[in-house]
Amino acid sequence: MFELKLKVFNALFEILKEDLAVNRAYDCLKLICSASIDALNVKNEELITYSRYQLKLILEGQQSVTSMDSKDLGKWMNDKKLSAYLDRVITKHTKKFEEIGYIPVVKTNETIGGKGNERIYWLDITEYTQVQNEEIQQPDDEFISYERVDPSKVKLSWFYRLIFKNGEIKNRSLRGLILFIIIFGSIIFWALYVFTFALFLVREGQSFTSLDLLFMLCLFGFSYLSYKYWAKPIWDLPEHRVIKAPMTFISLREEHADIEMYRDRDRNQLTRVTRFRGICPICSAEVVLRTGRPDHNLPLVGRCVESPFAHVYSFDRVMMNGYRLK
Ligand SMILES: [Zn+2]
Repeated sequence: MFELKLKVFNALFEILKEDLAVNRAYDCLKLICSASIDALNVKNEELITYSRYQLKLILEGQQSVTSMDSKDLGKWMNDKKLSAYLDRVITKHTKKFEEIGYIPVVKTNETIGGKGNERIYWLDITEYTQVQNEEIQQPDDEFISYERVDPSKVKLSWFYRLIFKNGEIKNRSLRGLILFIIIFGSIIFWALYVFTFALFLVREGQSFTSLDLLFMLCLFGFSYLSYKYWAKPIWDLPEHRVIKAPMTFISLREEHADIEMYRDRDRNQLTRVTRFRGICPICSAEVVLRTGRPDHNLPLVGRCVESPFAHVYSFDRVMMNGYRLK
């Protein structure tokens, strides 16, 4: 059993090393697998187990665990996600395990959870044929569920950080009014500026130089870009409910974020900066919201970061789920 385990884990580790992926299940499996191999290599028969806390600590650093609620650990990782990813790896590389006759499996302890009863994970092996007979139940590839990243975790640009409190703002409040004035004030200011500039050029009359032309082109270019990427999305927000946050909203260190308008229990309209994410049911990578164009005629769709044009899902912000789009 000892040698067999080492053989299976080594095979798995080789596959993981070559078949790179960007997702948590992959990182966790790789970590557990490599530690298990190390232990087997020095003839250590003890089970190499990891709790979710330990996994998160190693993979994402001290800071990520100190600021985290213990309930979030279940969302961060669970045995279903680990097993689903492992199953995919095995299905993709069946041959290697067929030769050995055994496949790796994720095992977990029977616990109800809670303090002191931490769930732990380890890798074990099981006979290959046995699993074939049971027929691995295929996870539903057509369905995805989304979750919201805590608004306070999304880093805003310094300017909007002054207005948004913990990434949220009540539309009918002083802060909401200020945001409204800033947005529409700057559109009006810009329109006036372009108008004055044009008027000034007309007044100049004859002495219209190519430098003026360049200025004008820049002006129109800038107007067009700020309309397309800033004013238009914000204008669409009340109707679309969710938009991609314009670049000016978020910190430079942040790749992307979403802005959502919603109603709370007291029927207050709120606007918040958040991020929707899901796990791709096909390849277990992260799914983020992106524009639906050009391949889908929808404002926003969920796109897998690993395969953004093949693994595409619809997005329903009320049900927080979606179906695969083809
Ligand atoms: Zn995918």
